Amino acid sequence: MIRFFCAGCGREIALQSVPEGGRAICPICNQVVPVPAAVAAAYSPASSLRWEGAKMIVPRGAVLPHGNCALCGRSEGVTQISKTFTWLNPLAYLGLLGGLIPLVILALILQKRESLPVPLCGRCARSWSLSAILFPLGIILGLFALPAVGGIVGNAVNPSDGAAIGAGLGILVWIVGLFVGRYVWVSRTQLIVRKIDAAAITLQHPDPAMIQRTWGMMG
Ligand SMILES: [Zn+2]
Ligand SMILES: [Zn+2]
Repeated sequence: MIRFFCAGCGREIALQSVPEGGRAICPICNQVVPVPAAVAAAYSPASSLRWEGAKMIVPRGAVLPHGNCALCGRSEGVTQISKTFTWLNPLAYLGLLGGLIPLVILALILQKRESLPVPLCGRCARSWSLSAILFPLGIILGLFALPAVGGIVGNAVNPSDGAAIGAGLGILVWIVGLFVGRYVWVSRTQLIVRKIDAAAITLQHPDPAMIQRTWGMMG
């Protein structure tokens, strides 16, 4: 939804999209009012967005097209929500060669953090927040709980070596959960950051073809 104020009567005008020619008719006073250039620029499909397959490249200073949910494309109840994306350059893992402390230092240096307003409908905003909280929480809790539960159950089944087998199975379940959570749940409910550099934020979209159609742009 595009909102701005009528130059004639001062009342707020709400539109679904920027009208052809950039002019709207005020529903209150019937005056023809040009949509302010800054508003039109923010709401038109950002020509600066680029796609590489499912990866959406948002150059620094560019905005996501407003009016539709950036995840599902719906236009009802969409609000801008500032999302902070954190990306760690894979080079940081080279620090592991030197041990944990070099890894932590490299990670602190190479970690990039960037905020971007993302238009989201109520439903997508909720599922994004939910997966952003519950997935990391589940991973941390599961790392301890699953081997422990597996060990207890295994021990009850077979007191001689059941505990070790149970704990091993618990770790296996945790690894499966990690991948399913990441690739089935998180990647469908969030825009996943793939890269942040001086030029752009690169995000992965769960349904690139749909959102490209919605935004009226080609891949
Ligand atoms: Zn008016
Ligand atoms: Zn949505």
